Amino acid sequence: MRIGIGYDSHRFAPGRRLVLGGVEVPHALGLAGHSDADAVAHAVTDAVLGAVALGDIGAHFPPSDERWRDADSLELLRQAVALAQAAGYAIGNVDVTVVCEAPRLGPHVPAMRERLAAALGIGAGAVSVKAKSNEGMGWIGQGEGLAALAVALVQPLGGEARQAEG
Ligand code: MG
Repeated sequence: MRIGIGYDSHRFAPGRRLVLGGVEVPHALGLAGHSDADAVAHAVTDAVLGAVALGDIGAHFPPSDERWRDADSLELLRQAVALAQAAGYAIGNVDVTVVCEAPRLGPHVPAMRERLAAALGIGAGAVSVKAKSNEGMGWIGQGEGLAALAVALVQPLGGEARQAEG
């Protein structure tokens, strides 16, 4: 088995959608970014790429590439999963923490788990999403933006994974 870690942060901005884990969350502010700025999907993508030592999201999907403008970040995640599978690994489980002062994300966690799980090709029971505030401290506490941290476990394709394929 191998494990990878991912981190991402985005700044809040007016006139943007707030998309986290593939779920559009109603809020006065969205997140600035070249793609849909889904910091949760980006952190999970980096965790998957990290687990198989295949670089990072910026190397595979550079913001300089117009293909990724306003991109659905779950599609980037699906591509990262395909890269991991091509390297001989299946996704085991994923755990995410989102650090965000507002809005409250708890009610959206079940939908985020479902959307992420579908992109990862695993069951929602293997995808954990937890939301934390930053207790009012620092740039997150003052609502400048939010951050997401993720870990992903991968295992060599074979055994159950191979049976599922066949
Ligand atoms: Mg990002």
